[in-house]
Amino acid sequence: TAPLLELDNVTISYQRRRDLVDAVRNVSLVVQPGEAYGLVGESGCGKSTLAMAVLRYLPRNGLLTSGHVLFEGRDLFTMTAPELRRIRGDRIAMVYQNPGSALNPTIRVGAQVAEVYRHHRGLAHRAATEAALDMLRKVRISEPDRVAALYPYQLSGGMQQRVVIAMALASDPALLVLDEPTTALDATVQADILDLFQDLRGELKASILFISHNLAVVQQVCDRIGVMYAGELIEQGTIREVFQRPRHPYTAALFDCIPDFGVRKKDRRLAGIAGGVPDLADLGTGCLYEPRCLISRTVCRVDHPELMRAGTRHLSRCFFHMETPLPGSAAPLAG
Ligand code: ATP
Ligand code: MG
Repeated sequence: TAPLLELDNVTISYQRRRDLVDAVRNVSLVVQPGEAYGLVGESGCGKSTLAMAVLRYLPRNGLLTSGHVLFEGRDLFTMTAPELRRIRGDRIAMVYQNPGSALNPTIRVGAQVAEVYRHHRGLAHRAATEAALDMLRKVRISEPDRVAALYPYQLSGGMQQRVVIAMALASDPALLVLDEPTTALDATVQADILDLFQDLRGELKASILFISHNLAVVQQVCDRIGVMYAGELIEQGTIREVFQRPRHPYTAALFDCIPDFGVRKKDRRLAGIAGGVPDLADLGTGCLYEPRCLISRTVCRVDHPELMRAGTRHLSRCFFHMETPLPGSAAPLAG
């Protein structure tokens, strides 16, 4: 099948004073129809920049400096403003971290969902109101009639996010982009929303690009996963491949940051990865992860690795991907 979304060698750079800094570097990935693709990585690795590029919603100082973003085979960065508007409203919907910012504080939430049906689906007032109630039910709001009459401030964060998800689904998008949709919520509410996504996967035709810094969250919702580091895609594979056997030392270290994940649960050694991400304005020639890597060698300081095949559908940007330490092992593997 033709991909729904295709990023081909995408570099996105921000103008900062006199410098042009690459926040996303040469990223290629595809999202197939019906697929849920999860993108993970630490804060600042370029996840949101990539998500914004998928809607061509870059900030004023953000530029696509190489590559193409193709949606249904058409280049988003060369299409006309009206074409782009049609795609943004009807074909791609986005849900952000903070539900409050996506809702209009002065309009009852039922009317906000109904508005999507009127505007994007052409329903008349009455039909739109009915459809909105159905959609609120679909996102597991148990008393849709009562909730529809409330204003956003009268809802908890979790309920607000359900309403935002209802609005996103109401336009019947082909692609749903979710940028940390549960991060602002507390743990139990976060679990509820993840359960909702899992349930919706069955009924939903839309493909999902799911962004999170949390591997466990992506595992629950997605079919495939891409891991970003300092603007680059450094590992990609099916959930099964990557969770069974990560093939990049950075991904293995990320697994170690999940409590109770991995082999040795007793002597959990870290809550984060030692060292910091590189300065994007001052990158060396070698592997970007080399300064923090437990298995690096001389070549890693000198040469920049390309993505290489590490399994059937598995890619890794590591010269020594076959020696990736198992998550939970305190020391690098010998060799
Ligand atoms: P987080 O997990 O914190 O949301 P992220 O992975 O979404 O992080 P981005 O927000 O895409 O990361 O940022 C990637 C890099 O680009 C960071 O170094 C960030 O400081 C920089 N950046 C983001 N927005 C801008 C901007 N408008 N101008 C300049 N630099 C920016
Ligand atoms: Mg972000």
